[in-house]
Amino acid sequence: MRIFAGRFETERTYIMIKPDGVQRGYVGEIIARFERKGNVLKGLKTFQCPKAVAEEHYQDLSEKPFFGDLVEYICSGPVVCMVWEGPGVVKSARKMIGATNPLESEPGTIRGDLGAFYALVGRNVIHGSDSNESAEREIALWFGGDDELVDWTPTITPWTRE
Ligand code: ADP
Repeated sequence: MRIFAGRFETERTYIMIKPDGVQRGYVGEIIARFERKGNVLKGLKTFQCPKAVAEEHYQDLSEKPFFGDLVEYICSGPVVCMVWEGPGVVKSARKMIGATNPLESEPGTIRGDLGAFYALVGRNVIHGSDSNESAEREIALWFGGDDELVDWTPTITPWTRE
């Protein structure tokens, strides 16, 4: 479903709290940030990621020297998988998340505020889709199908959309 809210189309993005974010207890903090922004939570689960899923998710990085470590890390403990819906949410989520390297992420972003603890670029707390195409691909990969997602509209929506 796509409706207009101002000049932004309502769209979906795939957000994942990585193992370091889960272990450090940031699940509630991160969900709160997305809720406060006015996004709608359409899917949510904890997941112990099998190697094949992590490899497929990061297939574009398969030639990178850190690919093996990255896959191992994503599978090292539970992740929290989410689908968030909102106007322009793919781009706004990337802004909220911040730069890949937590040490270079702006204060106020999730990685800038929460991710600099280990000073490791790979341990950056959270993933967010980088385009609408990636979002749809990643939602299909991480969620078993539409029966794992709930299509609902908050009752407050008429008061919050033009
Ligand atoms: P982003 O997650 O910001 O979209 P990329 O798609 O470039 O960034 O990289 C995917 C993930 O791979 C990063 O979030 C990070 O966990 C890991 N990564 C990226 N670059 C490096 C690196 N130089 N060394 C180790 N891990 C990296």
